[in-house]
Parts: sequence; structure tokens; C-alpha cells
Amino acid sequence: MAQTMRAALVREFGRPLVLEDLPIPSPGPGELLVRIAASGVCHTDLHAADGDWAVKPALPFIPGHEGAGVVAAVGAGVTAFREGDRVGIPWLHDACGACEYCTSGWETLCARQRTTGYLVNGTFAEYCLGTAAFVAALPGQVAFADIAPVLCAGVTTYKAIRETEAVAGQWLALIGVGGLGHVALQYARALGLQVVALDVGAAKLELARALGAEAVVDAAAPDAARQVLKLTGGGAHGVLVTAAAAAAFSQALRLVRRRGTVVFVGLPPGNFETRILDVVLKRITIRGSIVGTRRDLAEALAFAADGRIRTHVRRAPLAEVNAVLGDLRAGRIEGRVVLELP
Ligand code: NAD
Ligand code: ZN
Ligand code: ZN
Repeated sequence: MAQTMRAALVREFGRPLVLEDLPIPSPGPGELLVRIAASGVCHTDLHAADGDWAVKPALPFIPGHEGAGVVAAVGAGVTAFREGDRVGIPWLHDACGACEYCTSGWETLCARQRTTGYLVNGTFAEYCLGTAAFVAALPGQVAFADIAPVLCAGVTTYKAIRETEAVAGQWLALIGVGGLGHVALQYARALGLQVVALDVGAAKLELARALGAEAVVDAAAPDAARQVLKLTGGGAHGVLVTAAAAAAFSQALRLVRRRGTVVFVGLPPGNFETRILDVVLKRITIRGSIVGTRRDLAEALAFAADGRIRTHVRRAPLAEVNAVLGDLRAGRIEGRVVLELP
């Protein structure tokens, strides 16, 4: 095995990532070393590289948390995986295992969790360490680049749709048809929901139609909310916000049906405004949702394994990471870009 690995590092917030050769880390007890074949580029990686959020990563760091590849070495005590296994490294690197959240199937809320590509080095590199208890086994029949986006975009939206509590036959209004949104749409269809998709880009709305949305609405149109209310006969039962723009959050409250649930997944810094009276009188639930548990991830992967979810990906080499982040910032990406490591 080589001694060094190519990796893309954030050395300064808001500056281009730097490509460097770094020593390949070795797996400690309970860890795996994964040879990354493909890594999706999530908008969260852009927030991380820009230092958008109050709790920032320690510099320098390697972003990336949709890493698909093969186990290259296992640390002491690892029995669940061996060299050569196909695995995926998700956002949740590990959690304490003992708190009230970890012991009740909510490890995503553990206050002592460590996150991949944020608090520990991520998957924009030829190799990455994973925790055996948090790494996902990948199905054999789907290419690494095609399955990679399920590791964050897939599990996050699969979970979030269920958090809307909308059931088969009901309406889901999806705001934002980007990396997350384009798989959200497919999970919603697979779960029997009718989808009205909103975005500010014409190409995004076209993709939404191709992926089975019943209707698409330009989120920037002055009468966007009115169109959705009319179409759904009084508002969507569930609303899912995957846009990284604060305006989408206020809009969500205008699309929801009485007794409906709005789930926020997008993470733009800032606040949004809403009318208290609307929330109270319509008995609306507003809920956040953060990635998904290991169980959610296994289920989300199963949908992809049997072809019910097909990610729409553009492949790019690691060396193009800065151009990809630029496209993401400008809203120019349809579906997901996946970095391929040679
Ligand atoms: P993306 O850039 O691929 O997609 C965002 C989409 O929103 C784009 O299609 C864009 O055109 C659209 N958009 C922008 N402004 C809009 C508006 N006002 N109305 C409607 N649509 C609008 O990003 P992504 O990778 O899908 O991530 C989206 C957000 O979700 C980011 O903030 C990311 O950090 C967050 N995220 C959250 C979780 C979680 O667990 N909660 C997990 C992953 C990502
Ligand atoms: Zn992500
Ligand atoms: Zn915990």
C-alpha cells in the first residue's frame, strides 16, 4: 500500500481547498481504514468550508461525508467487516453509545457525537477512517458513485419524509430540488406520496418532473403559495425544506395544510419569520430533522439497492473540487456531483 494519500483540505474558511499529499492514517481499535472510490459533494461541505455555522471545524480539515469505497485495513477488535468489504462512510462518525439518545434509537442527537468531514477528517481523500459500528455495508449491485449520495442526501430525506407524518395518497410539498431534494422526491414517490416540487431553477423543476413530481412550481413566483394551495386542495400534508435559503423557510409555512407538519432540513445560517397566529390556529407542527440513524441508513440503502431510488450524478475528479463547490454555491448543479478517486 502507498504511504501517502491525495486529499483536499480546508486550510482557511471561505478560501479554495488545497490539494495535498498526507500520510495515510492507520485504524485504531474499532476503526476501519476505507479506500474511498467516490464521495458525494453535499451543500453541508460548502457550509463547512465557508465556516457558516457557529460551531466551526478546527482547521485544517478534510470535508466530505458521502464516502463509498472498500475496507483497506481493520483495527483491533473489528469483527463486522474485513478487508475488501464495500462500505459507506456517513456524516455520523461516532456517538457516545450511553446517553439517553444513544440508548433510545436517536444517536443522531448525541451531544458527544463526532461528525465526518467536520469534527473528524472526511472523505475528500483517497483514504478515510470510519468507526466500524457506524459505517454502512453497501449493496454490491450499485456503482460506488451512484450509491454515495444515499449516505447523506438519501438517509436524510428518507428520514425527514417520515418525520412529516404524511402517508400514502397525501401531498408532500418539497422546497429545494438539489442534491437532497432530487432523492427526496424519489423516496416520497416510493412511499406513495404525491409531490409538488418547488425550486428557483428551471433545470431543477425539469428534473423534478422527470423524476415523477405531480406538479412543479417556481418558488420565486409571487403566487407560488396560492398555486400549491389550489393544487393540493388546501395545502400539503407534509412540507419538506431542503433549500439552503432562509426565504424557503417562511414560504414553507404558507404551503402547509391545517394540522400538517413542516420539516426543516436545510441549514442556511440565520432566522426566518412566521406568523404565530397561522401556526396556532391551523395547529401546525414545525420540526427539524438531522440526517438519520444507522437503522434509517440501512433502510435508505435498501431502496437504492433494488433500484427504487436512482441518484442523478455527475462524476468529477478530486482535483476539480473547487469548481464543484463554486457550482454548488451558484445553484448550478443538477442532482449531485460525486468526486471519483482514481
Ligand atoms: P443543493 O445546493 O444541492 O440544493 C439546494 C437546492 O435548493 C437547489 O436546487 C437550489 O436551486 C434550491 N433553492 C435555493 N434557494 C431556494 C428557494 N428560495 N426556494 C426553493 N429552492 C431554492 O444542496 P443540498 O446538498 O441538497 O443541501 C441542502 C441543504 O440541506 C444545505 O443547507 C445542507 O447543509 C442541508 N443538509 C442538511 C442535512 C440534515 O441532516 N438536516 C443533511 C444534509 C444537508
Ligand atoms: Zn450531507
Ligand atoms: Zn450519546
